[in-house]
Amino acid sequence: MEKIRTLRGFRDIIGEELEKFRRIEAVFRKYCDLLGFREVELPVLEKTDLFVRSIGDTTDIVEKEMFTFTDIGGDSLTMRPEATAGMVRSYLQEGLYAKERMTKVFTIGPMFRHERPQKGRYREFHQIDVEVFGVKEPLVDAELIWMVHMLLNELGVERYRIEVNSVGCKTCRESFRNVLIDFFETKKGELCEDCLRRLERNPLRIFDCKNEQCIRVTEDSPFLFDSLCGECRDHFELFERHIEGFGIALNINKRLVRGLDYYTKTVFEVTSDDLGAQKAFIAGGRYDNLVEEMGGPATAGIGFAVGVERFAMLIAPREGKTGKLCFFAFVGDQARDHLIPLLKACAAQGINLLYSYEGKSLKSQMRYADNLKCDFVFILGDDEIQKGIIMLRDMAGAVQHELPLDPEKIVAELKRLTNP
Ligand code: ATP
Ligand code: MG
Repeated sequence: MEKIRTLRGFRDIIGEELEKFRRIEAVFRKYCDLLGFREVELPVLEKTDLFVRSIGDTTDIVEKEMFTFTDIGGDSLTMRPEATAGMVRSYLQEGLYAKERMTKVFTIGPMFRHERPQKGRYREFHQIDVEVFGVKEPLVDAELIWMVHMLLNELGVERYRIEVNSVGCKTCRESFRNVLIDFFETKKGELCEDCLRRLERNPLRIFDCKNEQCIRVTEDSPFLFDSLCGECRDHFELFERHIEGFGIALNINKRLVRGLDYYTKTVFEVTSDDLGAQKAFIAGGRYDNLVEEMGGPATAGIGFAVGVERFAMLIAPREGKTGKLCFFAFVGDQARDHLIPLLKACAAQGINLLYSYEGKSLKSQMRYADNLKCDFVFILGDDEIQKGIIMLRDMAGAVQHELPLDPEKIVAELKRLTNP
């Protein structure tokens, strides 16, 4: 019969990669605690409208990447492609704007986008997502960058760039829109089909195009960064000053727009040349209008998402094993009866004692212990029981010596061996 495999772009996360995921999460949780972020778990499935309204209907995500389907009840549902939309929904649904002066939350989990799978790009991938609601001061923009900086340091990522830009507010965008349209109108022949559509509906999106030729066209274009309104300029300058205070190096990238419509003012991405084509592994920014646009009171917001798969590609695997491994080899029914009391005594002390369930021959058990890379093997058979002893073999030196067959003494010895 044909074996069933995972869906295209969906993967099992196992072994070394999973260990890295867990390590990234652990370090991340530590900094969330330190900076006062509270964890929330959100549904993976939400109403399609939530994403269309927040992410924007001219974005790549909404136009072509969502896992959207109609359920049995006839509702249009979508597997979340990102976390901010759900975070805003939850913030409003829980009425947090009325309960707290500001809200700092984070969530960790899978996201879904129907993209062409390749290295660093999957249809199911994982994000760690951080959001702050209710703070308009640029101090929080800088704080988030500082948090990212600490994470990268602690996890040993050395080659990275923090790229920042300001995409302004409605006021600066409105007046800049026409400048952009005038510019790109003269370059229409060089733009891809998607960008021609973007030119009609949302010209700023052209900067997010991955097409080589479109990227070249944008090289001579005017930048929104150079025509920010006074308020947005002040915000950015203060942000830069705080970042300087934290002692972090930034790279201003005036082309950076991000793939979601809701961003305002500060946007940022962390990229690494060690990643190949999909260079960005952390991305975020401010979204000061989103809460209001989603039906809430005017509330500033800012957040970022860590792409865990890409982050994991940048950190080293954990070195070697910690502690020593011990194995219990028993031959015969009588010897097997010694296993359970010994196991219980070990478990009570938090000691992991390995063994094979079948018992089988001593030779096969020794081979198994060797495969498991055990450091020590306790051997018990009828002979040993008669003498009131147990053999302890040091696998490295292949030397063995006798110990009294006394559970207390054996556990004490195990404890000594496993905690050097
Ligand atoms: P890209 O330009 O790579 O498509 P994006 O702008 O669509 O990224 P965001 O929506 O900002 O990405 O998501 C934040 C992070 O999530 C990205 O920087 C990346 O690390 C990760 N990410 C996004 N899409 C995928 C995917 N399909 N597979 C794996 N990771 C992804
Ligand atoms: Mg994308």
